[in-house]
This record gives sequence, C-alpha cells and structure tokens, in this order.
Amino acid sequence: MRAYIPDYQLVIPNSLAEALSLLQSEPDTWKPFAGGTDLMVLLESGKLRERNYFDIWNLAELRGVNLSDSHVTLGALTTYTEVQCHDVLRREFPMLCQAAGETGGLAIQNRGTLGGNIVNASPAADSPPALLAYDAELELTSQEGKRWVPYYTFHTGYKLMDLRANELLTKIRLPRADPAVHHYYRKVGTRKAQAISKVCFAATARVSGDRLDEVRLAFGSVAPIPLRCLKTEDKLRGQQINQSLIDLASAELQREITPIDDIRSTQNYRLRVSQNLLVDFLMSLKQDTTASGHPAGQ
Ligand SMILES: Cc1cc2nc3c(=O)[nH]c(=O)nc-3n(C[C@H](O)[C@H](O)[C@H](O)COP(=O)(O)OP(=O)(O)OC[C@H]3O[C@@H](n4cnc5c(N)ncnc54)[C@H](O)[C@@H]3O)c2cc1C
Repeated sequence: MRAYIPDYQLVIPNSLAEALSLLQSEPDTWKPFAGGTDLMVLLESGKLRERNYFDIWNLAELRGVNLSDSHVTLGALTTYTEVQCHDVLRREFPMLCQAAGETGGLAIQNRGTLGGNIVNASPAADSPPALLAYDAELELTSQEGKRWVPYYTFHTGYKLMDLRANELLTKIRLPRADPAVHHYYRKVGTRKAQAISKVCFAATARVSGDRLDEVRLAFGSVAPIPLRCLKTEDKLRGQQINQSLIDLASAELQREITPIDDIRSTQNYRLRVSQNLLVDFLMSLKQDTTASGHPAGQ
C-alpha cells in the first residue's frame, strides 16, 4: 500500500551547518534523504516510518573525491557512477568500482550514494565488503565536531550502527593502495545484473615469497551485518599458502560467519559458496606466487 504523501515533510537545508543544526535541535525527528533509492522503495510500499526528512543531495560539503599522498577521501554523496568514472578509484580500488558497476541498473547508479548504502545497513549491500577489505574509515559529523571510526567497527547489529542521532556520515576515507596488493571481488546473485546478493565477497592480500603478509576478508549476506572476518584473517596472516592453510581458513570461516535461510538463498548454499570463494581467492594467490616466484598485484 502506498504512503499518504501529505503525511511526510521534506525540507532542503542550504548548508551542512544548517542540516546539522536541524539534527541537533530535534534529534530522532529528522532523517537525511540522499539519493532516495532505498527510502523511495519504503515510501512506495507504505513502510517509511519516519515522517520528517531533510534533503542532503545539494550539500557541496558531502561531495567530491579528494586525493592526498596517503588517502583517497570520498564525500558521502559520491554516487556509483562517480565511483566508476574516477581514474584513481579505477586504478587503486577496482573492487569498489566493480561493486558500483554491479549495483542496480544505471538509474540507481546515477542516484544511489555510498553514504546511503552504508547507513541503510543492509547485510546484503554490495559496496560494504569492498570498503571493509580496503580498510575504510568513516567521518561522522555533528554540531559538536567530527570523529573518524574504522568502518569495520561501525555496524554493531542488524541495522544497528555507531551513528548518533545528531550525526551525519560525511566522508569515507581509504588508505591509498599498495600496487603489490591483490584484489578479489565476487557478487553471487540469481542473475548477472539487477540481483540482490546471495553472497558477496571482497578480499585483499599482500604476499611476500609464498607467505601472506597482510590479508583482509569481508563478506555480505552471511551475517546480520556486512562482516570483516578478523578471526579467519588471523589464521592466515604470516603463514605459508598451502593446502593445509587453505583447509584451516575454510574451517575458521565456517565458525565466523552465520548465514541464514531466506527468500534469496539457504544457509547451506551461502556457507558453501563463501568457503568456495575464499578457497578460490587463496588458490589464486598460490598460483601467482608459484608462476612468477613473486606476487603480482591485480
Ligand atoms: C531497483 C534497486 C536496485 C538496487 N540494487 C542494489 C544493489 O545491487 N546493491 C546494493 O547494495 N544496493 C542496491 N539498492 C539499494 C540502494 O540503491 C543503495 O543502498 C543506495 O546506495 C542507497 O543510497 P541513497 O543515497 O539512495 O540512500 P537513501 O535512500 O537516500 O538513504 C538510505 C538510508 O541512509 C540514510 N542516509 C543516507 N545518506 C546519509 C548520510 N550521509 N548520513 C547519514 N544517513 C544517511 C537515510 O536516512 C536512509 O536511512 C537497490 C535499490 C533499488 C531501488
């Protein structure tokens, strides 16, 4: 059933300061409206609970991609199309670009934002695993100031997060990529396009000789939150890549993720596919080191 539009209010602040003042004066009353691609679905189905929104689409402070020697910083309103068109993101963060290219169709990619994807907090969202594997940090801003939090600590439970009622997500910061790092991203859905993930996996690794120096593993759709698999990473870090390590990591992953049965897939399928993707990633590292004697970043 569609919502009754006059029940809703949408205001348009002229600046970030104005938006933050609104949040501060009446916390829990006002909610940001970014691209609206998640919110409009709820509105159309009559499930949009909060009634008061402020449109952040035109806030220049939440736009742009800035480069420094150490980081790439994206405004929370960066769209999927902007991600895919950015040369440095394409070169250094290919998994984020792949995730953006596999999110919805072109209309969604033109309008949907990374900030909206993060705060909507769906465990099945596609950019969070890439952002987790790239060790993203989030800038959260209120009238009281700014704070940075590591993204892997942000989601605290199903649709729960470390975001206060007076805060906006303003920026997403990624450490600049080491060219020797390997990247591996797979979204598994019912179709190649326009499908919600059954499992989504993003991983990065740096290899020295035949040892894993650094590794980050992140999954979507296998837990109540987009999940960085820190325990499985611990089993892998500093170890020689061989079959027994791959078996050990696969067993640890089974303990660390908690997939469920739902309309899109089954617990068992999600577990098997997650393990298969992890094994494929580790095998690809092993093959690279065996073939060249040294790792080649992708
Ligand atoms: C047809 C269709 C296909 C889709 N396909 C995919 C897909 O393949 N993969 C995928 O991951 N998602 C998909 N989505 C979901 C959606 O497009 C994304 O989650 C998108 O990134 C949401 O961004 P938005 O700017 O539109 O968010 P909005 O709808 O504007 O907001 C979403 C939530 O985030 C909050 N919010 C937004 N920005 C901020 C901010 N800066 N600070 C604090 N809170 C904020 C809002 O208050 C709201 O609660 C799809 C949606 C549709 C309709």
